[in-house]
Amino acid sequence: MGGVLALTRTPVVSGWFTETAADGGFRLLGTRCSACTAVFFPREDAYCRNPHCPGGGELAEVPLSPRGRVWSYTDGRYRPPAPYVSDPAEPWEPYTLVAVELEAEGMVVLGQAAPGVGVGDLAVGMEVEVVGGVLNEDADTRTAWTTWRFKPVGGDA
Ligand SMILES: [Zn+2]
Repeated sequence: MGGVLALTRTPVVSGWFTETAADGGFRLLGTRCSACTAVFFPREDAYCRNPHCPGGGELAEVPLSPRGRVWSYTDGRYRPPAPYVSDPAEPWEPYTLVAVELEAEGMVVLGQAAPGVGVGDLAVGMEVEVVGGVLNEDADTRTAWTTWRFKPVGGDA
């Protein structure tokens, strides 16, 4: 990642992930309801969205599982919908979009595959891990906008 060190690394969305989790790694951050244990990503800080929640719970930040399994994937030829984050001012570059099932949280998280990982490198059910990545670099503000990526566990990509 030459050149990145000179830039300030700034999360493209504040509070959605950390590059310095307790285990020193990169983790997505969600919130968990203390009443029903439902986990939300993107994080829900105002209200528990579980319709079966007994209520009265508090939403606390939790790091999500560092690994999951490929649920689906596709060539991202189009700008994806929210909550996936992209800069509308940037020209769109096709990439590989991965939907990853986090078993413990019972959810599917969307993300871009790590650089060099294409649809030919992926298979449904394959174990992948979340890693940090740079969405784009802004030379004017010396900012590297960071985001999350998925890469196959044990892969060199
Ligand atoms: Zn709840």
